Amino acid sequence: MSDFETVIGVEVHARLLTRTKLFCRCSTEPSPPNTRTCPTCLGLPGALPALNGAAVAMAVRAGLALECSINTTSRFDRKSYFYPDLPKGFQCTQHALPIAERGSIDLDRVMGRDHASAKSGPVRIRRIHLEEDAAKSVHDATVGRSLVDFNRSGAPLIEIVSEPDLRSAADASDYLRALRSALMFIGVNDGNLEDGSFRCDVNVSVRPVGESSLGARCELKNINSFRFVARAIELESRKQREALSRGEGVQQCTKQYNAERDDTVLLREKGEAEDYRYFAEPDLPSLLVPESMIERERAAVGERPWDKRERFQQALGGSRESAETLIEHPALARYFERVIALGAAPLRAANFIVNELRRGVAYDGLEANFPLDEPRLVALLALVERAVISPKAAKELYRTMVSDRGDRRSPAEIVEAQGRAMIDDDALIEAACAEVIRDNPRQADSFRRGKMGILGFLVGAVMAATDGRAAPEKVNAALLRLLQR
Ligand code: ADP
Ligand code: MG
Ligand code: ZN
Repeated sequence: MSDFETVIGVEVHARLLTRTKLFCRCSTEPSPPNTRTCPTCLGLPGALPALNGAAVAMAVRAGLALECSINTTSRFDRKSYFYPDLPKGFQCTQHALPIAERGSIDLDRVMGRDHASAKSGPVRIRRIHLEEDAAKSVHDATVGRSLVDFNRSGAPLIEIVSEPDLRSAADASDYLRALRSALMFIGVNDGNLEDGSFRCDVNVSVRPVGESSLGARCELKNINSFRFVARAIELESRKQREALSRGEGVQQCTKQYNAERDDTVLLREKGEAEDYRYFAEPDLPSLLVPESMIERERAAVGERPWDKRERFQQALGGSRESAETLIEHPALARYFERVIALGAAPLRAANFIVNELRRGVAYDGLEANFPLDEPRLVALLALVERAVISPKAAKELYRTMVSDRGDRRSPAEIVEAQGRAMIDDDALIEAACAEVIRDNPRQADSFRRGKMGILGFLVGAVMAATDGRAAPEKVNAALLRLLQR
């Protein structure tokens, strides 16, 4: 079995965050079913398409972010098939000449692996093309019917097609995460897998190691979580290896991953390529991308999320995990950067954001609502920095401020009013420590017998006794002094 390798290529459909649809002026806002339609997106005879320039700009930006060449001339084609959610009987897509081609994502760079541990290298992106989404079929079991919501009909998508360069389930999900993150950070997609604004189809085949031609592939359709993508690839790859080991062939097919059964299930067998009767869309002229748009979009790409993570990690003195968390959403990264720009110490700010504030952030697409605005968090952290309050008191103060957002007093004023200021007085701290040692003779004894780890327990007891207000370093020092006497 170890003599086979898995080969994976991925197709991603990403919704573009334009305000209107690709070929009409209907809104893309979430709305009650069938309230965002017009003759064009309903496919009525004689209705003509007019291309949305904002969608073109976003596709160009995505192409540049993924190191593609932009085709200054591309065109739309009709892809004909029959389905109830496709009113015109064809999808308007780009087949022969896509808007962007030949890009790549370097997985080692994305994952922050250096030369020594590099293992995956660049994944080539074959093409990115613009296309319209189909309407949404809603299968309503309660009335035993299928209904169609045309709000989604004609919404703008880009399809991003990779070369079959991926070799493992882990690499495939890393690639997808990187792609999702890149699209979110350039502001063209909200990265929502559950809502289907980021959808992936994964093509899997296996072949004997050393073989250069590709084996027959199975296409796994519309998997809506990265964990499931990895799982589906593992299952499918194992099935194909087993088939080949038994001397059987692999039949090209389309499958679905069923999470409940934890299995890949056949949708249809696919012989040769289906015939979509592609031909150039006669109702649209060639799509010309002006040089000025390319330059403008190049400037809009900005820093890639993986480069941002690298920079954060350095600012944090090496903490990979915090840096990773801070780039999980562009609004969170922006929040952190603003807090730093306002003068907060990076590591303290990062820890506070990752461990406290992050839980209270409400995301809505690429927007976010933060429990506390940046200047107030900076003012709060400054109190800890200046040793006015302990880190523990800072957490409590934070919760107070969050639960009463109408209270616009400064953190310092609240501390003053509530008597939360840190106890810094050596005599007071020593007295509290002595009391804790007296009350916990067993623990004090085992510390003296060399069980150093018990110190944390004693520090905790002092903090509890002082309502979290004692200066922690002083507590540490005082305890050591008293215990080693
Ligand atoms: P289709 O026209 O059916 O969409 P393509 O040749 O355009 O097929 O490929 C679609 C995706 O499938 C691409 O991402 C490509 O890398 C991948 N792919 C194609 N053949 C294989 C294969 N044998 N094994 C794994 N992935 C493949
Ligand atoms: Mg395809
Ligand atoms: Zn419309």
